[in-house]
Amino acid sequence: MKKHNFSAGPSILPRVAIEKTAQAILDFNGLGLSILEISHRSKDFEQVLHQARQLFVELLGIPSGYHVLFLGGGARLQFAMIPFNLMKSKAVYVNTGVWATGALKEAKMFGEILEIRSNVPNFTTLPTDYEIDPTADYVHITTNNTIYGTQLKKDIDSPIPVIADASSDILSRPIDVSKYGIIYGGAQKNCGPAGVTFVIVREDLLGKVDHKIPTMLDYRVHIEHGSMYNTPPVLPIYTMMETLIWLKQLGGIQKIQQLNEEKASILYKEIDENPLFVGTANVIDRSLMNICFVMDKKFKELEEDFVIFAKERGCVGIKGHKLVGGFRASTYNALPKESVIALVDAMREFAKLKA
Ligand SMILES: *Cc1c(COP(=O)(O)O)cnc(C)c1O
Repeated sequence: MKKHNFSAGPSILPRVAIEKTAQAILDFNGLGLSILEISHRSKDFEQVLHQARQLFVELLGIPSGYHVLFLGGGARLQFAMIPFNLMKSKAVYVNTGVWATGALKEAKMFGEILEIRSNVPNFTTLPTDYEIDPTADYVHITTNNTIYGTQLKKDIDSPIPVIADASSDILSRPIDVSKYGIIYGGAQKNCGPAGVTFVIVREDLLGKVDHKIPTMLDYRVHIEHGSMYNTPPVLPIYTMMETLIWLKQLGGIQKIQQLNEEKASILYKEIDENPLFVGTANVIDRSLMNICFVMDKKFKELEEDFVIFAKERGCVGIKGHKLVGGFRASTYNALPKESVIALVDAMREFAKLKA
């Protein structure tokens, strides 16, 4: 049976990227060697790294003055690297969920934190109309809240550098990179497999702190060495490159945004019309990437049943995060529209049986 993969991360990748990876593991570029057993300094791998970087620049329209790094350690290592490299005295953190809280917790070790959050339980609504202290070193935001299914759908205006955790919506919609100081994330949600972290960093922000920075945590070192200061995650970078090639061939960011909007609107429409289900996020803050919903109060005891029912129809990975409960359908770039339709069909069939 065809599987419809709604996993939140690691998550669905374009089939072609997986097939090319399988091939590169067996015989990379016709070298008679696996990509797993060659030097990261070989011409063949340097070409991969170069192409992955170029595709980021091209797809997102990254202007000059920025560097694209591919590092290890996940988005979580960036939670510490950011304040280590940028914080002199204080920073603003917009707290929109578990990941933002994690970033804030690390930053507290480096200085004063000015926290902004909305006064609603369980992060269902994004804060609005807040003032950003112009004397702080930077403001940290999370563009898409993977657990709660909320998303900032436009770039924010700020008098100080904006640092964005874009782990779960990078390359899903156009952004104006020039409005950001750093954009970073783990690749495993929307642009590759686990193991590689992308960091797009504006060079002129660096070198301004007085304290020493351990070599491996210093962005300037990674820039100077072109992401090869230590051995980079070779295979994840390869799969990410193939994912970016797929995205470019599909028509790039404008096209994927259109497809993502279409997929999300099909599913949200069903959630709003189907008597069994209710969406959890504030409507205007709804994410196009992680669609969170629960069973209506009257049908609460049917939640487990629906997970099984959907699974029998090939829809996997829809169980919600434990902090929200219910269901979460992650509709990342690589998820085809037919998968969303399969889930909607399952929701309708289930409602016919139970409502
Ligand atoms: C998954 C996720 C993270 C954590 O990423 P790791 O690569 O596991 O460290 C951080 N931020 C957001 C928004 C995420 O969705």
